[in-house]
Amino acid sequence: MAEMKSRVPVREQDPLVRAKNFKEVSFGYNLEEATAEASRCLNCKKPMCMTACPVSVHIPVFISRIVAGDIKGAGEAIAQDSSLPAICGRVCPQETQCEGSCILGKKGEPVAIGRLERFVADWNRENAISADSTAGCQADSAGSCGSNASENCGTAHKKKVAIVGSGPSGLAAASDLAKWGYDVTIYESLHKPGGVLVYGIPEFRLPKEKVVKPEIESVKRLGVKIITNVVIGKTLSVEWLRENYDAVFLGQGAGLPKFSNIPGENLNGVFSANEFLTRNNLMGAFKEGAKTPIYAGSRAVVIGGGNVAMDAARTALRLGADVTIVYRRSMAELPARAEEVHHAQQEGVRFMMLTAPVEVLGNENGWVKALRCQKMTLGEPDASGRRSPIPIEGEFIDIETDTVIPALGTSPNKLIPQTTPGLEISKRGTVVADDDLATSIPGVFAGGDAVTGAATVILAMGAGRKAAASIHKYLNNLMQ
Ligand SMILES: Cc1cc2nc3c(=O)[nH]c(=O)nc-3n(C[C@H](O)[C@H](O)[C@H](O)COP(=O)(O)OP(=O)(O)OC[C@H]3O[C@@H](n4cnc5c(N)ncnc54)[C@H](O)[C@@H]3O)c2cc1C
Ligand code: SF4
Repeated sequence: MAEMKSRVPVREQDPLVRAKNFKEVSFGYNLEEATAEASRCLNCKKPMCMTACPVSVHIPVFISRIVAGDIKGAGEAIAQDSSLPAICGRVCPQETQCEGSCILGKKGEPVAIGRLERFVADWNRENAISADSTAGCQADSAGSCGSNASENCGTAHKKKVAIVGSGPSGLAAASDLAKWGYDVTIYESLHKPGGVLVYGIPEFRLPKEKVVKPEIESVKRLGVKIITNVVIGKTLSVEWLRENYDAVFLGQGAGLPKFSNIPGENLNGVFSANEFLTRNNLMGAFKEGAKTPIYAGSRAVVIGGGNVAMDAARTALRLGADVTIVYRRSMAELPARAEEVHHAQQEGVRFMMLTAPVEVLGNENGWVKALRCQKMTLGEPDASGRRSPIPIEGEFIDIETDTVIPALGTSPNKLIPQTTPGLEISKRGTVVADDDLATSIPGVFAGGDAVTGAATVILAMGAGRKAAASIHKYLNNLMQ
């Protein structure tokens, strides 16, 4: 093998500058940088990168088109399998998926597949080039659709599909179904579509107007109707949807925040990461004159070690707080993406490891004044495979702070399970779905975080696409 070239670095905002603004951290590649990085790809005959991609994007194909200068063609290759490339290029955990399996990673640095995907999507958007998928009906490709129509076989049927939730799973399902000619309506409880892409992931990682909105607009251009401010389970029921549509997809996510249930968690100044991020991202609280306020204080402590914790910490930092993350295990066990941890450290977020909260302490007015924590040590690996934290007797520390932000994960909201008779729900509160993503109610399918519990954008998108193919088969009486 010839001498391996190293990765083309990506330009980013200076950490000290970006720690004070909400603009995107990474500038992404330009054409010259993308071409140089793409030319590192070996165009493998058996591309392990593609095998490791949850939606099997044709990675070597799109990369070779970049090398050939055909960025539109590269976009078309990605669009065969992914309807949200500018988003996935930015937020997918590539290091454990495509890039984690790239052959170049065995001896050096893997191809920067995520950055290249982002480049292609951004370049095509900025040059007003549509890269809509030409992938036809999936049931056709399985050789089993009886409609004799290749690309728009749903038009022949004129059937209606209702989708609950406009996150990545709902958008992906809607997009495929609309391409096949179905009449698709998404019902979204919030006033803006996008799910976590809009209310959870911050602007500095995923710009809303520049990136998320155009991708949602492209789904709408396929004919998908999105009705906001409708809470299924309150405004309308799943039963009603079932009666008024030919099939239903449940993609309501898992947005209910978990708390640590320690004393003092009801004090003023304790916010779930969900609320903190939603106020900021969805309600724009960081903008001058915003109607929905947010309070980070001058010192903030974030509890947790996942992506949500990093997002909350970096948001609090940008709002002017001095931020500490407390996590009960060590840096080696942090579940957040390495890049997010690195960015948080560069920006000045402090990490206090092997530290577990035991009580939130308040002042006489009922406001947070400190977080009491116990020091931990690591024992044997637990069921998750990570070494388990063990409290060190008598070793406590009080961290003075104005706000405490628990970022301990989320679980599914109980509203739809409680208002939908006959819908089987697991002990974890997730919707039970079979391999075709069919639920216990005929004609009702489900996918994304609502089924798996909190996961990733690409897995939710993959589930949406799988459910769309199953809905198509169901509506054509092709289910086994
Ligand atoms: C802060 C944060 C950061 C993250 N960072 C990353 C990351 O970097 N990379 C990554 O891959 N993943 C990340 N994730 C996870 C990822 O965003 C989710 O796995 C993904 O969005 C799940 O998609 P979904 O479509 O299943 O649900 P969601 O995105 O949660 O969308 C569900 C939608 O349904 C709506 N809804 C809920 N109930 C109802 C109802 N009853 N009626 C109508 N509508 C309803 C919700 O308002 C929401 O819009 C992050 C998550 C969070 C919270
Ligand atoms: S595994 Fe790496 S080198 Fe091979 S095709 Fe995929 S990106 Fe290119």
